[in-house]
Amino acid sequence: MATAVLNATVAGLSSTDTYFTVLEEVSKYNVQLNYAEKLWAAWYLWMQNDTLATGLMSFFMHEIIYFGRSIPWMIIDALPMFNKYKLQKEKRPTWKEQFECAGLVLLSHLTVELPQIWLFHPIATYFGLDYGVPFPPLWKMAFQICIFFIMEDAWHYWNHRALHYGPLYKSIHKIHHTYSAPFGLAAEYASPIEVMLLGIGTVGSPILWVCFTKDLHLATMYVWIVLRLFQAIDAHSGYDFPFSLCHILPFWAGAEHHDVHHERFIGNYASSFRWWDYCLDTEAGEEAAKARREKKLAAMRAKKAQ
Ligand SMILES: [Zn+2]
Ligand SMILES: [Zn+2]
Repeated sequence: MATAVLNATVAGLSSTDTYFTVLEEVSKYNVQLNYAEKLWAAWYLWMQNDTLATGLMSFFMHEIIYFGRSIPWMIIDALPMFNKYKLQKEKRPTWKEQFECAGLVLLSHLTVELPQIWLFHPIATYFGLDYGVPFPPLWKMAFQICIFFIMEDAWHYWNHRALHYGPLYKSIHKIHHTYSAPFGLAAEYASPIEVMLLGIGTVGSPILWVCFTKDLHLATMYVWIVLRLFQAIDAHSGYDFPFSLCHILPFWAGAEHHDVHHERFIGNYASSFRWWDYCLDTEAGEEAAKARREKKLAAMRAKKAQ
């Protein structure tokens, strides 16, 4: 771990030390660090293997956030009082459906995603990813995460749209469309090829960024992954509340946008924002179809009038 401030601690470490002894040592000699930075530094020092340290942290973080974020949606689905906010009211997922979905997602995490998560550390550090302490300032993290949201959304739009092309849909994307009324857990219910292809947008965007700027911290990457997981799970939740983000930021896609995609199998291909579908006229739903019909009629009338 490339941090000079921790050299004093490294020298005093023995292989029998527990994580908490290391944390105590780090805290004693690095008072300038905040608590999260101390926990982080002690983890890498205690592990003595940076690839393994990042790999374990990434895998467990992904599992905890994915399933943890899905639990509130499972509870909401079980409570009739929330039904008025459900987008497709007549289609509520059964426990059996949710259990089967969670099983396949977990299997995919253990087989398809685990090797990729392990490869992330050597690849990203090769391109200049920093994982030392202290962490970068919050403004920098926020700025970079906004860029990643924009980059991922563009990647997702074009690749998801391509996955709806007949042969690709049948052989790859059909699995994700098993549920015409999605629920939180179904966010990563997809073919391994799709997980890899669309995952490039999530993991590849920060790697591309660090490749050119040489300025990215692993902690920023983690905050980005957490927010991206929240975005994907919430978009599949099937619920639209008056306080949902898309009512505050009108260009945010949210569940209302992606639920229609699952219901109609066509249109609304972007993940986080509405601008790609809006500008390229691929918006799904009744209103968008009406607007398209009206546009066509107006064009025909204009042609006749000439
Ligand atoms: Zn689709
Ligand atoms: Zn989906």
